[in-house]
Amino acid sequence: MSANHRKRALEALARRVALPDAAATNGSAPLDYYGKDVFNAAAIRQYLSSGAAEKLLATIQNGARLDPDVAGDVAHAMKDWAVSRGATHFTHWFQPMTGNTAEKHDAFLDLDEKGEAILTFSGKNLVKSEPDASSFPSGGLRCTFEARGYTAWDPTSPAFIKRNPRGATLCIPSIFCSHTGETLDRKIPLLRSIQALKRSIKRFMTCFGEPEARATITLGAEQEYFLVDREFYLQRPDLVQTGRTLFGSAPAKHQQLEDHYFGAVKPRVLNFMAEVEEELWRLGIPAKTRHNEVAPAQFELAPTFEELNLAVDHNMLTMDILRRVAKKNGLVCLLHEKPFAGVNGSGKHNNWSATYGSRNLLNPGDDPRRNPIFLGFLTAIIRAVDLHGDLLRCSTVTVGNDWRLGANEAPPAIVSIYLGDRLTETLEQVERGVFEEYRTGVKPLKIGLATSPRLEKDDSDRNRTSPFAFTGNKFEFRACGSSQSCAPFNTYLNASVAESLDYISERLEPFAGDSEKFDGELQKLLGELIKTHKRVIYNGNNYSETWVKEAERRGLPHLKTSLQALRPFLDAKNHQLLEKYGVFSAIELESRYEIFTEEYVSKIQIEGEVARDMAQNMILPVVLSEYGKLAQSLQAAKNAGLTAGIAGLKRSTETLGALLDELQERVADLAAFGAVVDVENCERYIEATKALRSTVDALELVVDDDKWPLPKYREMLFVY
Ligand code: ADP
Ligand code: MG
Repeated sequence: MSANHRKRALEALARRVALPDAAATNGSAPLDYYGKDVFNAAAIRQYLSSGAAEKLLATIQNGARLDPDVAGDVAHAMKDWAVSRGATHFTHWFQPMTGNTAEKHDAFLDLDEKGEAILTFSGKNLVKSEPDASSFPSGGLRCTFEARGYTAWDPTSPAFIKRNPRGATLCIPSIFCSHTGETLDRKIPLLRSIQALKRSIKRFMTCFGEPEARATITLGAEQEYFLVDREFYLQRPDLVQTGRTLFGSAPAKHQQLEDHYFGAVKPRVLNFMAEVEEELWRLGIPAKTRHNEVAPAQFELAPTFEELNLAVDHNMLTMDILRRVAKKNGLVCLLHEKPFAGVNGSGKHNNWSATYGSRNLLNPGDDPRRNPIFLGFLTAIIRAVDLHGDLLRCSTVTVGNDWRLGANEAPPAIVSIYLGDRLTETLEQVERGVFEEYRTGVKPLKIGLATSPRLEKDDSDRNRTSPFAFTGNKFEFRACGSSQSCAPFNTYLNASVAESLDYISERLEPFAGDSEKFDGELQKLLGELIKTHKRVIYNGNNYSETWVKEAERRGLPHLKTSLQALRPFLDAKNHQLLEKYGVFSAIELESRYEIFTEEYVSKIQIEGEVARDMAQNMILPVVLSEYGKLAQSLQAAKNAGLTAGIAGLKRSTETLGALLDELQERVADLAAFGAVVDVENCERYIEATKALRSTVDALELVVDDDKWPLPKYREMLFVY
């Protein structure tokens, strides 16, 4: 019965109408609509008086506090602009601890004193809203404080319009906090950390006698994802409920030929990508790169980098749009870190840097040894990652990432830094205080073709196995999961780097103004810091067993499981850091620990229950029926006095019978945990779920293909 569903899905796919030749877009050029659904500088200037416009732009660009009197004018202008773009509603758009974005719409429509319909949107509506916070994760804050929560306008991220087939909604990016001001979201800590880091950068640059300029933290988040046909998806309760396949045996061909990576994109997928980009560009999200990834049915989208807070919001929106547009195209976008066992999972590469004025602080220049600001900034990062690598690891905890980190496709759960040969050599020279010729300068690449241009070997050679790699003029953190918000990682990195910069500034400040003494002190300090913290630098293969041993010898934390990785949240050193920089209060930190632990355990339990349910209700009936048929045939063959085939029938029956027994045992093992899965038994529960999977996967290989109820990997990963 269910097997027929599976076959019908395949038939439906076979009947899919080919895509029209011309793209489904209206053919307009990107510049005609780029950023048109954003209340950006152009819209602000068009809809606000010039005085009010400049005040608002100063807030957006320089973080100046917004004059409360201006809020009313801004609201009015925003409403007029949004209505002209088809909006009927507005909402504060925020990022509670569920990991998703949240919204609660209100119509502009209202009644005036005479009962006449009008459209209104006041400064009060814009600045603050009071959603009931009691149903969002609060990690105990809810018990201590009132359930009421506030969302408040974050003017540094522009309002935008979200379209639906029947209209549009004005979305106001907002922070979310409790009645008493404790953060209940991911944006507040991020904004606090950005503020702290900017302050520390200014202080650091002042030491070097640099004139005051604007500090900006930048992020480019590369997003990986899978696409599967919706017909298949709907037949996989595991995908629907947990975002990943809990069962599924690897097909003969998966990714071993490496023929998908950078391959020509199939028309149906390209059509999807183009539609996604159109939506992103409309929202002023600078989608730049698109390509096939390593695993079959896996893809990547990367934007041009932007200011960090904006880039995080844009990545949240990108995930939303990927899911929505996929559905419109009869596909499902899986953002889970490991939707399919046996092939690569998905990550989110987090490219981070900082600028001061127009100068990228991570640009080494021609000779980094003559670039003390770069060396100082780099050393601060090395110190920060050595001191707080455990906190950075903490930011990568999700159930999905557990299957990905350390699985030979993503960095291990040890946070180290890759610098490349030349920078490593530079730091060695700084440490020794002796500057010599480089042994490893930039060399031309030998291609051997007279017609090809001369290429220089990129000296930030891309070591793809490192969790935190210096890639030319930025650091790329590769351990974040594809479904995660970039906010937590960047929050912790910003705070850690701010602290290290302050440490350096404090040592240098007494010498500012006396260039000779300053240089001497800088040289001494950097040498000292490199010596103390260089253990976190590793340029080799991070996937190798040698590194795991070496890292342990160096004393670097190796937090293998998520529950271990959450513990740094409780560490005094991390508490001190985050409290000192005003990123989290002690209460907020404890609440986060609660939220993450609870979420983790709940998700593990959901996975186990879905697996048990599917095994019991979808797999077992098929196995029972198949076994019954085999046993009957065996009996009939014996009764008929047959000799040939008896052995074969017997073997098949017994193989299936053994797996049938095992299936029931393993279902019972999971059931034995009852309703209580907690921190104590979580690991054992995961093992029990895994054991059930191995039985079901073995069954998939012996049960009649026609009767197997679940779409198989070879279908989901290759038929789209
Ligand atoms: P890959 O890792 O796939 O080789 P690219 O080199 O194409 O990726 O770039 C990855 C991302 O890094 C892009 O989103 C890009 O905009 C971003 N990026 C480039 N420079 C910076 C910077 N200074 N700060 C932050 N992100 C940056
Ligand atoms: Mg990358």
